[in-house]
Amino acid sequence: MADVSGFKAHLGTVLAGIEAEGLMKREREIASPQGGWVTVGGRRMLNLCANNYLGLADDARLIAAARAAEESHGYGMASVRFICGTTDLHRRLERRVAAWLGHDDAILFAACFDANGAVFEPLLGEEDAVISDSLNHASIIDGIRLCKTRRFRFRNNDMADLEAQLKAAREGGARFVMVATDGVFSMDGYFADLGAVRALCDRYGALMMVDDCHATGFVGPAGRGTPARAGVSADILTGTFGKALGGALGGYVAASQPVIDLLRQRARPYLFSNALPPAVVGAALAAIDIVEGADDLRQRLADNAAHWRAGLEALGFTLLPGSHPIVPVMLGEAPLAQAFARALDGEGVMVSAFFFPVVPRGQARIRTQMNAALTKEDLEFGLAAFGRAGKKVGVL
Ligand SMILES: *Cc1c(COP(=O)(O)O)cnc(C)c1O
Repeated sequence: MADVSGFKAHLGTVLAGIEAEGLMKREREIASPQGGWVTVGGRRMLNLCANNYLGLADDARLIAAARAAEESHGYGMASVRFICGTTDLHRRLERRVAAWLGHDDAILFAACFDANGAVFEPLLGEEDAVISDSLNHASIIDGIRLCKTRRFRFRNNDMADLEAQLKAAREGGARFVMVATDGVFSMDGYFADLGAVRALCDRYGALMMVDDCHATGFVGPAGRGTPARAGVSADILTGTFGKALGGALGGYVAASQPVIDLLRQRARPYLFSNALPPAVVGAALAAIDIVEGADDLRQRLADNAAHWRAGLEALGFTLLPGSHPIVPVMLGEAPLAQAFARALDGEGVMVSAFFFPVVPRGQARIRTQMNAALTKEDLEFGLAAFGRAGKKVGVL
């Protein structure tokens, strides 16, 4: 007999440790659609921490498209794609993603976490090398762990270090070399320097893989993301439907035909996990139609981000520099960031504090995120609340 009581006691100790360090995460229960304002515990709260960049999470056109796809194709697929889980809608969405983003083809996954978990192992072997930015998303780190490829790491956005790692990979005799980077680093809102990464990849004959979750839909011409913004093309692009593109779920890889064809044969999260439901696929098709022509929403988002940034700076907060709608308010130690988030909660503003191990020690922050659903009045409400909360916890 396993010592189940000992096991539970052990887990209790681990949880108590998390609590004692002030690192326990608690979830708020939203009783309304996701949006610029949400209802929590009977209170209306201004939401400044969703990835709902274009404000489409509760968009009536997406809800209608989801309903229509559910009416025509039913609720669930009850199958992986290759057995009997592929509908005409799935293939339409894959072709639509590929055409929009400028690749031969695309392949859908249940989430971008799965896409990143799937993409390395079938494509790269022991003879190859992958070079990963040190601030890459957890799913890229896990995906790389799952392959037998030689691993190199370069300091975040440090092109001299990337070049040193490319040289090391080449000198080590690697057959194929792939550089993997986020298009936007989500804790800081910094853009990867994709023009420079592409140039280095070309100089050293390496492939460039970009995860564009925090950019697709609202960065670059027609929302095509960070490669389009930089005027370059990624060899392999991954992304999500769970952020700007309606915020439901689903991920994809867009790439050349042989890459997609091989992933369909070998990618384990594709072969051994259920197909996306028709409602999600139908709404994702509608989301791309909306987003491709949504220069008005992108402009409003950019205006909101600039206004929000300027307002916080005028109040005296320390921000990280940038232009992305991720606007981190730097606070230093974790308890202060948490006290500030609680004070904002009291003001009717929903934010989330980020601290070690998600960001380095001493760099705890409130990561605010702008979206196109917010009005100037909403931003003024938020700025007034930040001002009062900042004074309350002593950062202003
Ligand atoms: C959100 C995110 C993911 C995960 O996307 P899901 O579709 O939610 O699984 C992967 N990579 C990056 C950079 C992200 O920001």
